[in-house]
Amino acid sequence: MNFSTEPDLDELIALVSKLPGLGPKSSRRIALYLLKNRENVMKPLSKSLEKVHAKIIRCNLCGNIKSKEVKCDIKKCSYSPKNYEQICVVENIADMWAMESTNVFQGHYHILGGTLSALGNSSPEDLLINSLLNRIKENKIKEVILATSATIEGQTTAHYINDSIKDLGVKVTKLAHGLPVGGEIEYLDDGTLFSAFKFRSSLVSD
Ligand SMILES: [Zn+2]
Repeated sequence: MNFSTEPDLDELIALVSKLPGLGPKSSRRIALYLLKNRENVMKPLSKSLEKVHAKIIRCNLCGNIKSKEVKCDIKKCSYSPKNYEQICVVENIADMWAMESTNVFQGHYHILGGTLSALGNSSPEDLLINSLLNRIKENKIKEVILATSATIEGQTTAHYINDSIKDLGVKVTKLAHGLPVGGEIEYLDDGTLFSAFKFRSSLVSD
């Protein structure tokens, strides 16, 4: 439904409402906010959008975002000298940033950019699976860590990748599913409790 009498403004509201998590109401609020702050927010924002659109693309080897000017190299994509025998496969860039912020793994990442789903939204080509195989071979990777989500789509994708790389002689691991740190049993959801029990491990004493 259009509220303003200005088609250009309606177009902006319609575009803003395409952003994740924004409905028509918040999109109208954002558009009006931009109009009100045209010099200090709207103008720099539109310049920044134009710049990022012109300069930043997805790397078609590792799936990370990169400047168009940087030439990609299958041996250097997402490369960190700290760790070069493992590659961590994640669904999206936000997942990689979350992993990096924990400092648990700083090495090669492979960003799928989605998951395989029953609805067929992404194909293995979209997820750069062939490139993943090449990266494993070229970099002599010893372990592939599948850090996909504990959702049906995430697990389907992990199985597909596991099948695709099983002949490469590389160790394939996946994230443990279980009790969250500080989690109390009585407050856990059934799925978490089920998988924590199913993937229980031996007590190791030092
Ligand atoms: Zn890359």
